[in-house]
Amino acid sequence: MFEKILIANRGEIACRVMATAQSMGIACVAVYSDADRAAKHVAMADQAVHIGGSKPAESYLRADVIVAAALACGAEAIHPGYGFLSENPDFVEAVETAGLVFIGPSASAMRAMGLKDQAKQLMQAGGVPVVPGYHGDNQEPAFLSQQAAEIGFPVLIKAIAGGGGKGMRLVTQRSDFAEALASAQAEALSGFGNGAVLIEKYITTPRHIEIQVFGDGAQAVHLFERDCSLQRRHQKVIEEAPAPGMTPEMRAAMGQAAVTAAQMIGYKGAGTVEFIVDASDGLRPDRFWFMEMNTRLQVEHPVTEAITGVDLVAWQLHVAFGAPLPLMQAALSINGHAIEARLYAEDPANDFLPATGRLSHLRLSPLARSDSAVRSGDIISPYYDPMIAKLITYGDDRSQSITRMVDALDNYYIRGVNHNISFLNALMVHPRFVKGDLTTNFIADEFPDGFHADLVVQDDPAIAVVVAASVHQLDCERAGLLSDQLEGHEVEPSNDWIVAIADQHRSVQVSLTDTGYLVELDGQDCHVVTQWSLGDPLFKAVINDVSVSVQVEPAVSGYRLFYRGAEINARVISPRAADLMKHMLFKPPVDMSKFLLSPMPGLLVKLSVNEGQEVKEGEELAVVEAMKMETTIAASKTGKVKSIVLLEGSIVEQNDVVVEVE
Ligand code: ADP
Repeated sequence: MFEKILIANRGEIACRVMATAQSMGIACVAVYSDADRAAKHVAMADQAVHIGGSKPAESYLRADVIVAAALACGAEAIHPGYGFLSENPDFVEAVETAGLVFIGPSASAMRAMGLKDQAKQLMQAGGVPVVPGYHGDNQEPAFLSQQAAEIGFPVLIKAIAGGGGKGMRLVTQRSDFAEALASAQAEALSGFGNGAVLIEKYITTPRHIEIQVFGDGAQAVHLFERDCSLQRRHQKVIEEAPAPGMTPEMRAAMGQAAVTAAQMIGYKGAGTVEFIVDASDGLRPDRFWFMEMNTRLQVEHPVTEAITGVDLVAWQLHVAFGAPLPLMQAALSINGHAIEARLYAEDPANDFLPATGRLSHLRLSPLARSDSAVRSGDIISPYYDPMIAKLITYGDDRSQSITRMVDALDNYYIRGVNHNISFLNALMVHPRFVKGDLTTNFIADEFPDGFHADLVVQDDPAIAVVVAASVHQLDCERAGLLSDQLEGHEVEPSNDWIVAIADQHRSVQVSLTDTGYLVELDGQDCHVVTQWSLGDPLFKAVINDVSVSVQVEPAVSGYRLFYRGAEINARVISPRAADLMKHMLFKPPVDMSKFLLSPMPGLLVKLSVNEGQEVKEGEELAVVEAMKMETTIAASKTGKVKSIVLLEGSIVEQNDVVVEVE
């Protein structure tokens, strides 16, 4: 086996690769940029080499610098991880020319799958089903429009060099085609330096099901499927294996097609063949089509590891070292069910804009595999993918792995940056998800107005009432013990409270017991057994024999509770205060619509208006950029620009006022 390898990547995947390599006795060399000097992957490595500035182009994308680093420290091989240089055949050649081993497929296999149109032509020739469409060279708009009409609307325009959903447009009627084509081409040209597109039939009840393949250059096997249908804007959010509703016939047909694809290009290493599936009539062996092949390890590989018991990184290392496949097809089988959730630093309540900043608190959940490269105190920087962790749960069946994911998410504690834990949990407990009724439109269909944790309704709001009352009781007992209380104003011990959640008032009676609390709610006794102590943000208890973990944060005259995808404000007040509140006047919130605020922290890259200019509702006022994503700030009403508060080029914080309109 290799004695030393270099990992040409960062973040969780660098840590993931190192964990396996180090357990096999292989020394690991990390590379790092300026922003990553103190990163976990650097701390974990046996040796680390600084390779340049924080921007990927100045460090993680510099093939020459990385190869030189590997040579200088005596590494024999380079693992590319995913992203960055992992699918770049020129990098493979540079590594091999330097006399090193590239842990992955050959440059020619990568090239064969590099462009979507060529890959589709190749697969079609090999008898692998591909989505009906036009994959040729002719890029004349009139010709492509004619092709689209022949395929039949709706169609999808896709950049042949695309990735991450960029350069992709859905067109539902011919009159919209020309405009959609122009914008897809422009996006593809600026994003990938290649404006060419292909046209394919849009599958209207689509599921994304992919097959993990593995080759040793001579033979190939598949390690079954992953369902990645839960996507937001064509980006995967939840992945699972096996796919809900998969039949043995369809699995065999998809596995065979994927192995054929791998064999046609003499594939060596881990790869994924992605298929789009028409699920309008359940899963059927004649309703799947090749989309593309990713010639690398995928983000979601852990779910496959969980159900097959295979360490895919260990297999990558063996095969790269020249060994044959460790197991053949007949020796591979599926055991149980696994789910992965991608935990991001982002703001679900604010159209999922990426978030940056310091993770003031991070407590990984002990209930699941967490692949993560950040620790408490680390910074989520604007330079790289804002993923905090991948959470993977495993169970005997799908329902057990879902239950474990729900518990694991409830136990994951993050503060300092916005994150999507509540959103992930709301997906997990969604009845349609639980049923396994998935399509790639799930999130768009079920959350048409975005995600608002405040509005997630709990099956059993009593949990929130009981937890808020219990926490409050302990708070009061402690306040009652404080010394030097002002005479006549001592904290009166009380057991009667009103818990106010939204406009619902529930009256409770709470008392401490030897094992926790007794809460009387609506004439019923709730026994709360807990060891919880004040100050612990995680309230773990057994309430009438049901285990719950609720995150509790102090808030104005009460608490903010985080539980199963819901974020609930619960005020705990005396019956007298509740009575008085009924007579209080409602004061409408101040109208802030004339102030245009930056929706996220970042760089103000463009100011599109001048002071005194008339603007219409919806008109672009400014553009903010963060995480390589541009977001337009538009006028929320028609008016005149009163003042420009921040100048082009300024660094902005979230909610900074950029422009005032009158
Ligand atoms: P990218 O490389 O940009 O990620 P893909 O070709 O992998 O693009 O497609 C990304 C996603 O777009 C898929 O997972 C699926 O949700 C959707 N998609 C792609 N092709 C089709 C199609 N023909 N019909 C319906 N949805 C599609």
